[in-house]
Amino acid sequence: MYFDQISLADCLQNQTLVAQITGYRCKLHIVYLCWRTIFKMEIEAWYSNNFESLISGRYVTLEHIKPLLKKYDNYYEISILGVSELGKEIPMIKIGSGKRIVLAWSQMHGNESTTTKTIFDFLKFVTQKDDFKDEIKSFLNDFTLYVIPILNPDGASLYTRNNANNIDLNREAQDLSQNESRVLMNAFNKLKPNLCLNLHGQRSIFGLETKKPATVSFLSPSSNMDRKVTDSRRIAMELIVGLNEYLQKLIPGQVGRYYDSFNANCFGDAFQMKGVPVILFEAGHLGDDYRREKTRAYLFYAFVNLFGITKQDNFPINYKKYFLIPENKKNYYDYILRNVLVNDSIKPTSIAIQFTESLENETIKFIPKIAKIGGLDGFYGHLEKDGDNSEILVNSQNNIEIGLNVFIINNKNDKSLIYFNENNFLL
Ligand SMILES: [Zn+2]
Repeated sequence: MYFDQISLADCLQNQTLVAQITGYRCKLHIVYLCWRTIFKMEIEAWYSNNFESLISGRYVTLEHIKPLLKKYDNYYEISILGVSELGKEIPMIKIGSGKRIVLAWSQMHGNESTTTKTIFDFLKFVTQKDDFKDEIKSFLNDFTLYVIPILNPDGASLYTRNNANNIDLNREAQDLSQNESRVLMNAFNKLKPNLCLNLHGQRSIFGLETKKPATVSFLSPSSNMDRKVTDSRRIAMELIVGLNEYLQKLIPGQVGRYYDSFNANCFGDAFQMKGVPVILFEAGHLGDDYRREKTRAYLFYAFVNLFGITKQDNFPINYKKYFLIPENKKNYYDYILRNVLVNDSIKPTSIAIQFTESLENETIKFIPKIAKIGGLDGFYGHLEKDGDNSEILVNSQNNIEIGLNVFIINNKNDKSLIYFNENNFLL
């Protein structure tokens, strides 16, 4: 029962002032509720009933969001900032009318679509008139949020990180050789934001020293080679500390910090150089959430927290806590089968499988390949199985090598015992 997990100590520890004793009964006979917890339940209930169901999965393109842009054209100012290298429009939505100017952009890397789904969840949330009226009114009065939902529409369509000219737009902040890069820089120069949100997605290879996957990672980018904590960097760090504390309640041990090596060609670093705080969001992985629908929700909760809708207590935030967030490590694979005999060896080993993503018929196919054989101590699988020292066959063969596509893995002596079947991962 949900209420059993909530204690008064929890409420007080969070410096929540209003602790109401209500008449709910649980096994302790008394349930203590604080408004913070009530809010958490409400926002989760709102989300699960109301998220933007018109877009889902990993393949999200300009065509997918066009009906939504048409709908929101009735509510918000939507402008076309320019066109991509292949002539696709790059739209921007303006929400709210407050003094605090925030510029957010998603799908700068075309195949990183999770945060685009979050943007439309958030738009739906702030547009509806039934729930959280006061909080949304405050948000719309305090902030002007400019959102570019798909900065790289050609890459989104091709399901590639890079744009149509195979250029990584996030290494273009100085060269500005591509239409998409110039669109972003022009928007930044024109809008003069107080805060930038650089919205990305990360591969399933990232985990943390907590042994858990990096489901959400953040970065306050550096603005010089020394990685000094400048004023703008500190502000972004403080905001990230607040986001981390909020998300820890939802995904404990699954929030990471991205590497902060300086690169002036990255837009986040370049904007921080100009004195504007930038938060890099990386939507990561969780269990079997290959469609990234769970991560999308966590990013939504991060958004409502960032914009003050979750009424975070005003306890002082120390930016130094930013450095306590564990750094991303490449310590995860999609699947690890431990303790098996392969390649006629008599010594048990472990094998790791990683999926590569491929666009086929407008959907993303996940193709399992052998990524590593042995040496998997300190690595974790989003799914793991123990082979109990048995001999295995991969695709009915004894011998395996790195890079091999995997269809099925079964026990050599009892072929009905299946450890891995790619059909179980078709999405
Ligand atoms: Zn990215």
